[in-house]
Amino acid sequence: MREFVGEIALTDGSPSDPNPDREIPYLRCKECGTPCYVFEVEVGHVTEALCLACGNDVVSGFTVGEWDDDEG
Ligand SMILES: [Zn+2]
Repeated sequence: MREFVGEIALTDGSPSDPNPDREIPYLRCKECGTPCYVFEVEVGHVTEALCLACGNDVVSGFTVGEWDDDEG
């Protein structure tokens, strides 16, 4: 049984707005794993992308690269 925490602090009226400082350094193509630098971003959201290696141009076929690649 969980304890219910009855106090939720909602002070500011802006719920999780995107951080404008957070830019996307590059995209990684899911098809071939190549970092791709040809893409369009609007308000932190990728609208267009193109992989020069395999020609993938489906936005959902990319993952957002991170500045600090800290995998294992
Ligand atoms: Zn690719």
